[in-house]
Amino acid sequence: MDKQNIIAVDGPAGSGKSSVTKAIAEKFNLNHVDTGAIFRALALKIDESYDELEDDFNDFIDSVKLEYKKIDGNLSLKIDGLELSGKIREHHVSSLASKHSANLMVRNKVEKIEKKIVKESKELCILEGRDIGAFVFPNAILKIYLDASVEVRAKRRMGELNDSKISMSELIEDIRARDEQDMNRVHAPLTKADDAILIDTSDLKFEEVVQKVSDLIKAKGVA
Ligand code: C5P
Repeated sequence: MDKQNIIAVDGPAGSGKSSVTKAIAEKFNLNHVDTGAIFRALALKIDESYDELEDDFNDFIDSVKLEYKKIDGNLSLKIDGLELSGKIREHHVSSLASKHSANLMVRNKVEKIEKKIVKESKELCILEGRDIGAFVFPNAILKIYLDASVEVRAKRRMGELNDSKISMSELIEDIRARDEQDMNRVHAPLTKADDAILIDTSDLKFEEVVQKVSDLIKAKGVA
């Protein structure tokens, strides 16, 4: 199978995917695609608007209109016309996204959007997620799997969240629960693709991870 000109970066929460892929996208002028953001937006929509007694779940998911755009480099994510790119970052949305992403209808919807973004992109795409290298784009030209200890990942998330109501031990528990759910679901569970390159970021500085990923991209000669 021909290799597809995309870069897949997968890994669990707090492994450094978002910050690293954003920096890499800027450095190499790539189209950064945050697939977790799409799952988060859909999960919020389901949580807020789906009525189990009234709606057929498949019809409901089908009818949701999702727009994923970049405006001056910033993500604009709208569901049925409502801008959600800020709200999806709230802490409670993480577990909602993990819960609803186990559903095959939800996964199929997101996969369709991801493929459309890649197809329409003028730049080479770097997609960050959980299932990109192993399931959605198995023929990606470069696959990277970022990982780190749960303690290091929780510390990073704490820095991002800026939410004094959450303790470190709660965050560790939340991340463990999300790992467990994401790794053990039936459809496209979080896993390192056989041909993905593993980078353990536990003891690496941000710049060191960016350097390692840059070296891999240069070695492939894709950007
Ligand atoms: O990466 P982020 O933390 O934003 O992802 C939120 C949740 O969305 C993950 O815990 C996971 O359950 C789901 N997800 C997924 N597949 C992806 C990206 C995210 O299942 N490609």
